[in-house]
Amino acid sequence: MYKIAVAGTGYVGLVAGVCFAEVGHQVTCVDIDESKVNVMKSGVSPIYETGLEELMQKNYAAGRIDYTTDYKSAYRDADAIFIGVGTPEQPDGSANLSYIATVARQIAESVENDCLVVVKSTVPVGTNDKVEQFIQDFLVNDVKVEVASNPEFLAQGSAVHDTLHAERIIIGTESKWAEELLMKLYEPFNLPIVSVNRRSAEMIKYASNDFLALKISYMNDIANLCELVGADVQDVAKGMSYDARIGNKFLNAGIGYGGSCFPKDTKALEYIAKQHGYELRTVKAAIDVNTDQKTMLYKKASKRLITFNGLKVAVLGLTFKPGTDDLREAASLENVPLLLEQGADIYAYDPVGADNFTKVHPEGQHGKGSMTYVSDVEEALKDANVCFIFTEWGEVKAVTPGKYKELMRTPLVYDGRNIYRIEEMQEAGVEYRSIGRKAVE
Ligand code: NAD
Repeated sequence: MYKIAVAGTGYVGLVAGVCFAEVGHQVTCVDIDESKVNVMKSGVSPIYETGLEELMQKNYAAGRIDYTTDYKSAYRDADAIFIGVGTPEQPDGSANLSYIATVARQIAESVENDCLVVVKSTVPVGTNDKVEQFIQDFLVNDVKVEVASNPEFLAQGSAVHDTLHAERIIIGTESKWAEELLMKLYEPFNLPIVSVNRRSAEMIKYASNDFLALKISYMNDIANLCELVGADVQDVAKGMSYDARIGNKFLNAGIGYGGSCFPKDTKALEYIAKQHGYELRTVKAAIDVNTDQKTMLYKKASKRLITFNGLKVAVLGLTFKPGTDDLREAASLENVPLLLEQGADIYAYDPVGADNFTKVHPEGQHGKGSMTYVSDVEEALKDANVCFIFTEWGEVKAVTPGKYKELMRTPLVYDGRNIYRIEEMQEAGVEYRSIGRKAVE
């Protein structure tokens, strides 16, 4: 059992902290947000993740996890301090490392024992070298502090499962001491560990995320071509998926990737390459395709309708994917303002993300358009002139084609997630447009 501190209780930090407690370590989670800390102390998860709250309560009751804003007490005698604070995108595409720098400085001021600082946040190659130097520069006590890289690969919506059953754990270290300590910390998980140097570990994270983003953009590019040549992208993907070299995951066409990782990690790697005088053409292409893809449905609908002004528009799904309350870089955030600007009266449904969305687009009038949030799909569809599907929540997938025909004033559906079979929409008499497939007119 080791004494672990975790800096940052977002999707990465909190899930890591809870899972370390679950396997028996003594964990203190640190955040600067006092209200968040109080919520967590009361056994409530500040984020929506399946299974997280149960594990928080179980491990809190067992005394294996605690939450605090008092970083000094948490870092003072920790064996390892995991950093899971944000590294958001800056206007030029580079990663903002100011949160990492603050934590590094707080660690330098606080540690009284030798300890390993483990960076879980996604950071540009070479950042861990700088973090180590930064800590040395500000270190108050005469102790050994080393930095290791341990990038995180969890997916939001299945974060706890992904952590407890990770396909691999990447550790990047520069000494035997750091490597052995990290191996021991992860021993109870009994998962495959890939041990490399720090810079390679940092690169593995970007290379993996950007490869997935590329796969999505590639399928979206192919989908757009499928529409033009009369092929069906789902059939194409199915045919491709039997090739083991291609694999059967991440072949769904749609309205582009969102979330807090793919958009920023593609831009960050492109920026890193540029700084080294290299143009990362493949990743740049993935970014360009994704930018266009996000408003693909809006563009299609604009061609079909004279105006959105005064139309009731049902929006099904607001989060960037199902299973999360996270809106970062969601397609809805691009499309809703365009619709409002055109005077649409939007009736939005999302089982989890509506609260967060109201913070950006409050209920009520927005210029010519208006925003209303409803608590079930049918309410959104009732008398609607047009419907956009942005997130494939189970509640949305459960809507039968006949319901669109029955409830909507004009059953005109733009599906960004290819939820329905073309034939079933045709049979139900729904005018249906999706991605990379034939339009049902
Ligand atoms: P987040 O924004 O959800 O959480 C960051 C937390 O850090 C916030 O609660 C914030 O209050 C806290 N914080 C800021 N400064 C602090 C400080 N000095 N001390 C303690 N806490 C502090 O971020 P996230 O989505 O968990 O992402 C964190 C990092 O992990 C990013 O680099 C991201 O790229 C990477 N990552 C994210 C995911 C994901 O799915 N979200 C997956 C893999 C990797």
